[in-house]
This record gives sequence, C-alpha cells and structure tokens, in this order.
Amino acid sequence: MKILVLNSGSSSIKFQMLDMSSEEVLLRGLVERIGLEESAISWKTDGDQHKKTLQIPGHKEGLSAVLDILTDSEHGVISDFNEIDAVGHRYVHGGEEYKDSAVVTAEDIPALEKLNHLAPLHNPHNLVGVKAMLELIPQVPNVIVFDTSFHSRMPEKAYMYALPYELYEQYGIRRYGFHGTSHHYVALEAAAMLGRPFEEIKVITCHMGNGTSFSAVQNGHSVDTSLGFSTMCGIPMGTRAGDFDPGILTHLLNTGDFTPESLHDLIYKKSGMLGVSGISSDMRDIEQKAWNEKDKRAQLALDLVHYNAKKFIGGYLAVMNGADALVFTAGIGENGWETREEICSGMEFLGIKIDKEKNKVRGKRVDISAPESRIKVLVIPTNEELMIAKETLELTQEK
Ligand code: ADP
Repeated sequence: MKILVLNSGSSSIKFQMLDMSSEEVLLRGLVERIGLEESAISWKTDGDQHKKTLQIPGHKEGLSAVLDILTDSEHGVISDFNEIDAVGHRYVHGGEEYKDSAVVTAEDIPALEKLNHLAPLHNPHNLVGVKAMLELIPQVPNVIVFDTSFHSRMPEKAYMYALPYELYEQYGIRRYGFHGTSHHYVALEAAAMLGRPFEEIKVITCHMGNGTSFSAVQNGHSVDTSLGFSTMCGIPMGTRAGDFDPGILTHLLNTGDFTPESLHDLIYKKSGMLGVSGISSDMRDIEQKAWNEKDKRAQLALDLVHYNAKKFIGGYLAVMNGADALVFTAGIGENGWETREEICSGMEFLGIKIDKEKNKVRGKRVDISAPESRIKVLVIPTNEELMIAKETLELTQEK
C-alpha cells in the first residue's frame, strides 16, 4: 500500500509518499512560495536532494507538480497515479462534527467549509488541498486526519470553560486542543515501549516545538490538553504567551493603545520566549544567551517554560490519579535534554526521576528514567506523517 501524505499550508505544501508495507518514506518534499515569484518544488529520495523552480500560481498547480515528480521517469517512485492507494491530508480543525479521521468526498466540502472560521489561518488552506486532490486524481480515496480529533473525547468538564453556556451553544467556544496526531502517535509508541495495551495505560505527552501542548492520555484518548479554543494558551511557547489573566486584555483595550488586531498579534506573535527575552523565539538562541551570556531575561523565559510545564504535569497526574509514562517529543522535547532535565527535576515525590546521563541525547527514542522512577520518562521523536498514513490506511482498507 502506497499512501501520499499532504500538509497544505497558505503558501506551501509538504508531501511524503510512504510504502506502508515497510513504513518507509519513498519520497518527501516541499512546494513553496505558492502564488509568489520564484515558487519551487524540492524533494528528497534516498538522501538525494533536488529542487526545481517553476510557476505555481495555486495549490492545484502545486499538487499537480507533486504528482509529476512522483511519476517522473528519472526521479519518481511510482509509474502511475493508480499506484497511490490513498491520500491522507493533515487537517487542523475538525470542530465537534469530526470526532475521528474521515474518508472525504466532494459531498463533505460544505461541512468542511463551515469549520473554516474555527481555524481561519489553517483550515481554508487544508481544504484547498483536499479539493485539488479530488479534482486531480478522483479515482484515489482521500482521508482527512484532524489535529483536534484525538482530543474529541475529552470529558465535558475538561473542554468547557466557565463562561456563559450560550457562548458554547452560539459560537462553539470550548477547548478543542491541537497537535492531536502527534500526541496520539507518541502515546501509542509509549504503549509499545512499555509493552502494554494502549487502552490500559495513562500517559502524559509533552509536545514541545514552536507550538507546545501537553496532553493527559487515558483509555486510548486524550482526556485533557493544554491548548484550548485557540493555540495560544497553556505553556509559554516561542511567540505565544500561554496562560495569562484575560483581564489583562480588557485592561489593555481600555487604555486605547491597542486594537483587537494588535492584541492578537501581541499574544500570538510577540509574546512567549520572544516577548520575555526580547531575543528570539528559538529555544537554542535563548539557551545560548541565558547560559553563555548570563542574560537575565533569557533565563526568565526558560524559567517560565519549565515552571509552567511542571504545573501542567502535576495537574495531569492529579486528574488521572498517576501515570505510567511521561513522554517528550517535537523539536524541544526531542532535542532539548537540558529542558527535560529542568522540567523533571524535583518531581521525585510524584514518581518522576530521570537518569541524567541517559537523558543527554538529542532526537533519539530512549527511556531516560532512573531505575527507581515509578513513572517511565521517554523521549519519542514524533512522526505525524506516519500517523496520518496509518489512519489513512486503516480507513481505506476497511472500505
Ligand atoms: P514546529 O512546532 O514549528 O514544528 P519544531 O518541533 O521543529 O517546531 O521545534 C522547534 C523548536 O525546537 C525551536 O525552539 C528549536 O530551538 C528547538 N530545538 C531544535 N533543536 C534543539 C536543540 N538541539 N536543543 C534545544 N532546542 C532545540
């Protein structure tokens, strides 16, 4: 079975062709600068990197270029489109309508369009990718895998805010959660590492990249997660504030110095590690300044990330009455051993103790727990594309 995985953004499309018999990536690449000058497609097979600049006015042309590369006589990995068994699309928001990944046809387009307002920066572009594939290779089934669906079975008390109930009914204001594909993948892999059934274990998954979210996973699904209605809350991120008193927003609006748009920019693009440090949103830059130059604001940015991460882990341990594993993933979680060490320090009381030497690894799947740690602490590199391909395979094989 060969599955094409697509992640359609505003001006780019990431793609991967996987052979699911071996879970091997046959070809991966990126279409960039869609609709702009010097648009290009780059791709990699067996370590060989290639790039071609060409006119790509829209997503349909971009995906057509992807199909051309896949079937190219020199660089391609298939001889015919019919060798693609299914296409899996990363899709950010499934709202309350899509609780699971779904096979999508032209009939679903109106329902998907209705979700655009929930993730206006992502869903419309994801949808354009779906529409283009339905037109370009209509004979191949398409599956959409939502970032929200792993969280769709959270209990009401975890997803509702203590706001007037009418806001939920009228505007769909509730916690949805994001990064679900990543949380799902690493939680499944954690179960495999523990050698226990996924449905029987409790896991806290810490996805720490430019965007960060932690999830409490129990009974095979997420029971709580740190991102909410939007992707701005929870633990401080590269440029996003994380949790803060919403009274600050109304206070700032009342000063007359801010508009709703400038406040959005402030908490989405200018806060987090960037806002606190005044240096960068990138963890490596912050660590370098904090440790090598003893920069106080860079250190404060790190402290805010570590401290709030601890609070979420403690909260999820309380909610689930313990956990079998704590998993770190994504750019910071996989590579930042110093971050892992800081977050896990002083949590012996809760049953978390890492082996500091084992922890000193970057980007590798490894159990970093000390022998006496009641909770296994694991580093598991995420693989959202593989998870999307697995879901796609499962749904299309059933058909
Ligand atoms: P995205 O959310 O955009 O997919 P990533 O998962 O790639 O982001 O994570 C990006 C973050 O990972 C950045 O803050 C980067 O500094 C951090 N990161 C990458 N490598 C390391 C490293 N060796 N040590 C610490 N942080 C790292």
